[in-house]
Amino acid sequence: MAPPPTSEVDCLIVGAGPAGLMAATWMSRCGIKTRIVDKRGTKVFNGQADGLQCRTLEILDSFDFAHRAWRESNHMLEICLWNPNDQGVIRRSDRIPDTIPGISRYQQVVLHQGRIERFFLDSIKEHSNIEVERGVLPERLEFDASKAEDEDAYPITVRLRHLTDEEATPHQDLSSTATNPALNGSAPQNGMFRSNLAADDTEDLIRKARAEAGSTEIVKAKYMIGCDGAHSWTRRQIGFTMEGEQTDYIWGVLDIIPITNFPDIRMRCAIHSANSGSIMVIPRENKLVRLYIQITTTEKDGNPVERAKIGPQMILKSAQKIMHPYQLTYEYCDWWTAYQIGQRVGSNFSLNERVFLAGDAVHTHSPKAGQGMNVSMQDTFNLGWKIASVLNKICTRSILKTYQSERRRVAQDLIAFDHRWSRLCSGRPAKDVMDEEGISMKEFKSAFEKGNMFASGIAVDYGASVVVAKAGDLAEQGDGTAVESAGGDHKNRVVGKQDLAGGIQIGMRMPSFQVLNQADARPWQFQELLKSNGRWRVVVFAGDLRDAEQWARLTSLGEALAQPSTLLSRCNSRAGPNSVIEVLTIHSAPRTAIALLHLPDIFHPFSEREGWDYWKVFVDDLSYHEGHGHAYQNYGVDPLKGCLVVVRPDQYVSWIGELEDVGEMERFFGRFMRASA
Ligand code: FAD
Repeated sequence: MAPPPTSEVDCLIVGAGPAGLMAATWMSRCGIKTRIVDKRGTKVFNGQADGLQCRTLEILDSFDFAHRAWRESNHMLEICLWNPNDQGVIRRSDRIPDTIPGISRYQQVVLHQGRIERFFLDSIKEHSNIEVERGVLPERLEFDASKAEDEDAYPITVRLRHLTDEEATPHQDLSSTATNPALNGSAPQNGMFRSNLAADDTEDLIRKARAEAGSTEIVKAKYMIGCDGAHSWTRRQIGFTMEGEQTDYIWGVLDIIPITNFPDIRMRCAIHSANSGSIMVIPRENKLVRLYIQITTTEKDGNPVERAKIGPQMILKSAQKIMHPYQLTYEYCDWWTAYQIGQRVGSNFSLNERVFLAGDAVHTHSPKAGQGMNVSMQDTFNLGWKIASVLNKICTRSILKTYQSERRRVAQDLIAFDHRWSRLCSGRPAKDVMDEEGISMKEFKSAFEKGNMFASGIAVDYGASVVVAKAGDLAEQGDGTAVESAGGDHKNRVVGKQDLAGGIQIGMRMPSFQVLNQADARPWQFQELLKSNGRWRVVVFAGDLRDAEQWARLTSLGEALAQPSTLLSRCNSRAGPNSVIEVLTIHSAPRTAIALLHLPDIFHPFSEREGWDYWKVFVDDLSYHEGHGHAYQNYGVDPLKGCLVVVRPDQYVSWIGELEDVGEMERFFGRFMRASA
């Protein structure tokens, strides 16, 4: 028999859920030769995760498709808290905003996972020839650790098997819905085949497909990302484990068009009944409402809950009891599922910084705070540009260690948050102050408010590392070693001047405020200018350019940056000004007091083909139609003197310094940037 065909690829992604698609989207933007395979023959069409946090929307906007989600989704503005009165009858006890006002230009929205995956697929197609290869199952992984540090090597060898349509289409057990009279004989989609209550079918598929002797191929890869969900085959192949516990809770999820007299059905609600449990209500797109109900894994007699008993009717009946005296029924059910929650984090997120794990493959938790899909996408949003920068020879491999140090900490925080949150969501309300077993509704409200900041994704604060120049302990990789030890020596450490910009935190994402284009007066949210295309940014807060001294400082800065010997010039010399490190300027003088072309060229470079670049200099001034962004005030930057800010390709802030600190900034870049000459 002829040996299977062999090919080479820079990045192999296993799994085309939210984490895999985000990784592929980065690769599509950074021109990386990539393959993405998924064992399923079709994508998710409905159900599964649905909440998009405001940070995730900012990220989708950086890839230019947040508007699609924003337009189609249901927007959640308010949370209503319901709990029993003295007579044990539920009533609304409070209302709080769903997203903390002012933390982002987006608020939390809800749209099912299948639609979000569609937006990714369209975007990947628009920017590359990467296509998800469905019905393709990796069945063997070999890793040659001796080649891990050789940049041009392909240390990963994977055998892929192409499945038949039948093998790639999992059987859906519709038995528990077929008997449902409310559905008039039509069975809704259910997510049980993807649920962890159903056995994982990967090994079965491999066995069956081998017996069929279907076609196989060998792929040699420089990098591999395992985004293959909670049962992760990739994780098992590299021998990594998950730490934590399986909880005693099964979550039932039901997507219906409700027929009800419950007054807050179009609000996000947390309802605690006196004795019948609790429910979360999530109003969705297309008149749908999602009900989340927690079921304990054992019934009253101590026997385990039978999987076959869990179905839409069971979930509905629980909801009806909790929401009594309000009525609830439905004619249309779109999807339902049930799954058991493990609160677990992977022991390691990467093997020699060549094979990485992301998303559910390295953390699982409850769906209550709507984090699963968001945190999974944010994992590969953190990782994708790093792998692409190394492959494109822009950065050294040292930056790859920061994936684990940054994201494992987020995963650990998430599990801790989920522990606290689970207790509050599932407990029974306290009858009075003496009832210590019950949940105090005051505590619940306060936790909800605090939890909202965490859940928004905005609070993520990466620790000190080779790409985050801040004070404090160097971030640990998770195995106890400090990240910088691999990327550079400690003596070469750089710490940015945090006090120059109180509203911009080193390690956190760059906030967004409105600024105007100096050349055409158009208002922009500053984040809109930080597209995800792999570029680093130096943001020059140029201060008040009417002031002669300040003008001189800016001129000197322009001269320093333009020196051919700087890393900025040498990095950009490969593909032209701003191609690797982009310089964006915001000044605080009145727009009409400044002429763009008087600024040194480095701030608005000239090209023979296209003339001056008019899209690099901005001003913090009043717009004609959209008010004043007060960017300097909001960013906490001195409007006279300004400062310099370095922003990573994923919008996180790396370093802050004065306009004179170009040498220090160079030292920062010098720790991981590779100049071409
Ligand atoms: P996944 O979305 O699981 O994607 C993994 C992908 O890898 C899948 O496409 C799978 O087919 C593929 N794959 C798996 N194994 C292999 C293999 N061996 N080879 C090739 N491909 C493979 N979150 C919420 O916030 N709210 C919810 O209500 C909710 N409901 C859920 C219901 C179910 C049934 C499930 C499974 C998850 C639910 N989640 C929910 C969680 C949420 O969907 C996940 O957190 C999120 O999808 C994680 O994204 P991911 O890309 O890491 O993994």
